[in-house]
Amino acid sequence: PASILARGDAEDDGGRTQAAHFVFVPLREQGHLIPAVDTALLLATHGALCTIVAPPSTAVLVRRTVESTQRTGLPVRLVEFPLDYAESGLPEGADDGDRVPHRYMWNYYRAMALLRVPIESYLRAHAPYPTCIVSDFVHPWTTELAANLGVPRLSFFSMCAFGLLCQHNLERFHAYDGVKDSNEPVVVPGLERRFVVTRAQAPGFFRGIPIPWWEEFADYVERARAEADGVIVNTFLELEPEYVAGYAAAREMKVWTVGPVSTYHHSRTTLASTLASRGLRASAVDPDECLRWLDGKEPRSVVYVSFGSIAQADPKQVVELGLGLEASGHPFVWAVKDTADEYDETVREFLRELEARVGAGRCLLIRGWAPQLLILSHDAVGAFVTHCGWNSTLEAIAAGLPMVTWPHFISDQFLNEKMVVEVLGTGVSVGVKEPLTFQAVKKEILVGRDVVEESVRSVMGDGEEAEERRRRARALAAKAASAALVGGSSHANLQDLVNRFAPGPGTVRGAAA
Ligand code: UDP
Repeated sequence: PASILARGDAEDDGGRTQAAHFVFVPLREQGHLIPAVDTALLLATHGALCTIVAPPSTAVLVRRTVESTQRTGLPVRLVEFPLDYAESGLPEGADDGDRVPHRYMWNYYRAMALLRVPIESYLRAHAPYPTCIVSDFVHPWTTELAANLGVPRLSFFSMCAFGLLCQHNLERFHAYDGVKDSNEPVVVPGLERRFVVTRAQAPGFFRGIPIPWWEEFADYVERARAEADGVIVNTFLELEPEYVAGYAAAREMKVWTVGPVSTYHHSRTTLASTLASRGLRASAVDPDECLRWLDGKEPRSVVYVSFGSIAQADPKQVVELGLGLEASGHPFVWAVKDTADEYDETVREFLRELEARVGAGRCLLIRGWAPQLLILSHDAVGAFVTHCGWNSTLEAIAAGLPMVTWPHFISDQFLNEKMVVEVLGTGVSVGVKEPLTFQAVKKEILVGRDVVEESVRSVMGDGEEAEERRRRARALAAKAASAALVGGSSHANLQDLVNRFAPGPGTVRGAAA
């Protein structure tokens, strides 16, 4: 395999044998990849060697970040392993685009699993020997990789402990047994506080995807999760102490909270271009131009709107959202997906007209990948309209922003919304009841323009309730910042990982439990 090694690689190999060596096996989806890479970089700042292993189509997304980290002298390596297209049945290049098409997901997972043998041989042949595997939960085959190498394996999640515990409890207490209607309200069992969900919103961890082979794969993922030697989660202890403790107890597993991992970038740079490159894709807008636009706005006056790297709204919904933002009266930055197959010319025309009507002074449309971290951390931004992907949510928490919550699909978004609105008290919900994907009866518009307008006005407003929400958001941001500093919980957990997985008798399998 091709390998991009840190400067002074020979020294690393020779001199770092006493340090922990984490091998990261991330998933290619940005919501998984970005936080996993950030975690690797953070561990490297604590003295560990981190090797990220990935197929070329994933490595290309990571390379820029890894190389800029290597230039600062941190011990991070990126090693590429080509996928076996013939054996897995994955058409060549099917993994090159933004997303692997749904019909090839099984082949893609199979192709990833086939990397176990070459990765294992590589790790045996190239010192220093790994001391711990950190794998995305979607790679259950890493159980065997770690077992063969005789090292522990940690599962990596970028989700909140609240969501993980809710999903775990819904499953272990069989909350949906006998519940026929997937929109019927069910109370999450085993928690002190009462949270009501539906199966459509929260079907259980990695469950509820209507693809024939999915349930069997989800069982395999669950077995691998249960057998892990511990869990690394992108959250921080002070955000949700009872749920972190609850999840660790429920799974009888050590949980290391290390977030918000995005702070890695803030602690090392203030450069717009570097912050913008953190998204692992080239930004669709010049970061300096974006900064200048934001610099021209009053503090806390701008609304940022983005639904993450995957979610796509229906064309009619896009129009409704745009009209709602226009009617809200606030300046806004809107990251709107605009690739050829997603929107027809009518929507493009609508967006052009909207820009012309509202004016470049009041709206900045980013057609494609937005420099999200840069935007969220700018003083001009006052609220975030989000799909509640956990990374986006935690990035907003770290930036001290209240949110308009608008979950789009299953996985954890509806539970993250509950976390923001009901646990943290920093969000206003648009009131979506069921995910966009897999609706029984397809609705083109889930949220009307009036609701958009009202929610934005409410979160940006001057009233006591809005002020209270902002106060809570600021207090959480302060806690997030402390967690990442020396003496903070996430900082201490990163150091604990590095100490605990240093070479020696402590690194045999099972030692982390
Ligand atoms: N992101 C970004 N620019 C974009 C869209 C997303 O930088 O235009 C980043 C965002 O900051 C976050 C990640 O991509 O770190 C998306 O993860 P999240 O869990 O929020 O949502 P997902 O994309 O998995 O639905």
